[in-house]
Amino acid sequence: MDQTRITRLGKRCLIIFAIILGLNSCKEDKPLIIEEEELAVVIPEDIFEFGFNLNDFYVKRDTVRAGDSFGEIMQRHKIGYPQIFQIAEKARDSFDIRKLQIGKPYTILCSKDSLQEPKCFIYQPNREEYIVLNFQDSIHAYTSRKPIKYVEKEVSGVISSNISETLDQKGISFILAYKMSDIYAWTIDFTRLQKGDRFKVIYTDKYIDDTIYAGIDNIKAAVFEHKNEDFYAFEFETDSVKGLKDYFSEEANNLRRAFLKAPVEYKRISSRYNLKRRIALYGNKIRPHKGTDFSASVGTPIRATANGTVTKSAYTRGNGNYVKIRHNTTYETQYLHMKKQNVKVGQYVKQGDVIGWVGMTGNTSGPHVCYRFWKNGKQVDPFREKLPEAEPISSVLKAKYLEYIAPLKVQLDTIKFEVETAQPSDKLITQVN
Ligand SMILES: [Zn+2]
Repeated sequence: MDQTRITRLGKRCLIIFAIILGLNSCKEDKPLIIEEEELAVVIPEDIFEFGFNLNDFYVKRDTVRAGDSFGEIMQRHKIGYPQIFQIAEKARDSFDIRKLQIGKPYTILCSKDSLQEPKCFIYQPNREEYIVLNFQDSIHAYTSRKPIKYVEKEVSGVISSNISETLDQKGISFILAYKMSDIYAWTIDFTRLQKGDRFKVIYTDKYIDDTIYAGIDNIKAAVFEHKNEDFYAFEFETDSVKGLKDYFSEEANNLRRAFLKAPVEYKRISSRYNLKRRIALYGNKIRPHKGTDFSASVGTPIRATANGTVTKSAYTRGNGNYVKIRHNTTYETQYLHMKKQNVKVGQYVKQGDVIGWVGMTGNTSGPHVCYRFWKNGKQVDPFREKLPEAEPISSVLKAKYLEYIAPLKVQLDTIKFEVETAQPSDKLITQVN
């Protein structure tokens, strides 16, 4: 904002200068008068922030320092204790003045006269919100938000080794890669991408107050070409009341499954489900492994991979501390070698709830979770199962969804694969206050 103002002022000065020069060359009697008239017209442009015209005030900006309190800051600006007390009392319902945090910015709007009397105290607890304590006339306090702008962007890429690298070469945050791998968690194994796999993404960037970049907001639509097959993903709101959103394919199938892919953030899968596993230690005899071992540090939270009821939370010599959950009449999951359980038998848990922590109890040589997946009472490999969708789209919404994605799909299909493209293209889509 300041910059545009400066350039505008600069242009005006140039015009004035040109007029003076022009007049000087033909009429030498009046140039100075015109110059004065022109300069008098230059009024400082209004600068609005926090809902105030900053030109009406003397603006003081600072950050909360160690040892600062609202009272002390106000005192430094020559406000007496009775008034500080009054402000604190009146503001109490909207803001607790004791909650000022060190390092957070604040702005004091003072009268423009020589007294520079504080009229407003504005505190910014985060980049988007600000709290105004206005004591110009009567005291009032309120919380407000800075205007947020979303800019839609498009990007395409061809994989040479992995998606983060491809995006990095285009100067795009790894967050986009992270969001992509999340959307496609059940469709594409991002650790096994192939050279030549390609993708196109329509996503939104977020800006606060027009200028402050606040990162990638979300992915609207994407297509991933893997093993010569196109995997489309479109974000769609299935419950506007709860604000539930999910990603669906072009046939309206939910891309997410009812189960998380793994119960922990793991370092690696140390052993997969394998009925023909042979172990040298046991004389190369077949020792089937009916679980998937996820290596993780001791103490890593273990999460329920789906909603369900805890049927076992116990200890055996082989399993160590373990938990078993029944999800429905078909599926159960079991988590072994925990350091400690966090749930009791009979307890209902939701997908993602912490049910225990990684340990090495029972028969194990290192810290990991042995994750066992049961279908109709038999242990199966969850990675090879066709698992139920997280939440299928309702038939009522399906028509609406297909109508919604049609132009998005066209937009995706029109994006070109430009390997050398340095910058994503962008266009402004919405501006909200
Ligand atoms: Zn195991």
